Amino acid sequence: GCPGRLLELKGNIRVLCRLRPGTPSSLVSSEPGPGGTVTTCYRGHQRRFRLDWVFPPDASQEEVFRELEPTVLSCLRGYSVCIFTYGQTGTGKTYSMEGPPEDPGIAPRALQSLFREMRPGGRHCVTLSMVEIYNEAVRDLLAPGPPQRLVVRQGPAGQGGLQVAGLTYWDVPNLETLNQMLSLGRSNRATAATAMNQHSSRSHALVTLTLRAASPTRGSGTAGTTPASALPCEEPHRTGDWSSLHVGSLAPAGTLHLVDLAGSERAWKAGAACRARGDPEDAQRLREARTINRSLLALGGVMAALRARRPHVPFRDSQLTRLLQPALGSGATVVLLLQISTRPEDLGETVCSLKFAERVG
Ligand code: ADP
Ligand code: MG
Repeated sequence: GCPGRLLELKGNIRVLCRLRPGTPSSLVSSEPGPGGTVTTCYRGHQRRFRLDWVFPPDASQEEVFRELEPTVLSCLRGYSVCIFTYGQTGTGKTYSMEGPPEDPGIAPRALQSLFREMRPGGRHCVTLSMVEIYNEAVRDLLAPGPPQRLVVRQGPAGQGGLQVAGLTYWDVPNLETLNQMLSLGRSNRATAATAMNQHSSRSHALVTLTLRAASPTRGSGTAGTTPASALPCEEPHRTGDWSSLHVGSLAPAGTLHLVDLAGSERAWKAGAACRARGDPEDAQRLREARTINRSLLALGGVMAALRARRPHVPFRDSQLTRLLQPALGSGATVVLLLQISTRPEDLGETVCSLKFAERVG
C-alpha cells in the first residue's frame, strides 16, 4: 500500500475491514487492498460492500499497522486521531488492538512508533489516561488504588467539551513507563473480568494519549506543571478536567484515542443464549447487551451525522460518544477497523457490521 494515503484523508472517517482467519469462508467474495470489497449473500440477498481498505485473513499485524502509522504520527503535529476496533465478539478486535506479546497489535506498535519519532526526548510531553465504560458507568483504570467510577458532565459554557471529574492522568516520559502503565490498566480491567464473566467483551476500553510539544512555560497553572517523572507509579500530577487536554486554551495538543469496543452482537442473540442455557443472570445479560447496542448505535449515529455534516450531532446519546466528543469533532481523523468473521453461523452479524460501516464511512 501507499503509506501516505490515510494521512491525506485526515479530517475524515476511514473504514478498514479485517477478515478473521482460520475458518472456511461464507463470504461470496472479497477483494483486499485499498477500496476493497466484501460480498455477502444472506437470506438469498446478495450485497457488495465497499470499504476504504480490506485486509485479507492472512494479513499480518505489521501490514495492518503500516496503513495506520501515518495517521498515528499525525498526532505529533497536533491532530486528533481516534482508532476503534468494532465487531462481534471473537472476531479479533483485541487481537488487532493489543495482540499477543509475540505479535503485537496496533496499540503497542503505535506507541513504539510515536516514541521513536519523538526522540531525542524532551521535545514532547506525553500524558496518558485509561478508562472503561461498562453498562454506561465510566471507570478510571489508572487511578491509584482500586478502579474508580467517574462522573462525566458538561464543561462550563463556552469552553466546549466535557469534564470527567477525578480522572487520573499520568505524565509518561518514555516507552517503558508507558507500557508499564498500560499493563497496569489492563490488569485493573482483568480484575473486574473474573468477577463479571466475560466482562471485557461487554465493555469499551479507551486509552488516550495526549502529545504536547514541550516548552519551558507550558502549563500556566492548570496542567502539567511538574516535570515528567521517570517513575511509573508515583502520584499522578494532575486529575480532573479532560476537555482542556483536547480543546482548551493550552498549547495545541495532539491526541490519540485507541478504543477496543464491546462486542457488537445484537441483544436478542445474547438474551436468547441466556435463555437457552437457563441462565439465572438472564435479565442482567440482556440489560448489558442492550446498553452495548445502544452505545454502538449512538456511535454510529454520531459518525453518520458528522459525515453528513448535519448541524446536530447526537453526542449526548451515550457515555462513549459524550467522552469522545472532543475527539470526534471537526478536524479529527477517525479510523474504524471493522473485524468480521467469515463463519457461516456468523453471517447475520457480519452483514450487520458491514451495514454499520456503510452507514458511518
Ligand atoms: P474479540 O476481541 O473481537 O472478542 P479476540 O481478539 O479476543 O476477539 O479474538 C478471538 C480469538 O481469535 C483469539 O484467540 C485471537 O487470538 C484469535 N484471532 C483473532 N484474529 C486473529 C488473527 N488475525 N490471527 C490469529 N488469531 C486471531
Ligand atoms: Mg476483545
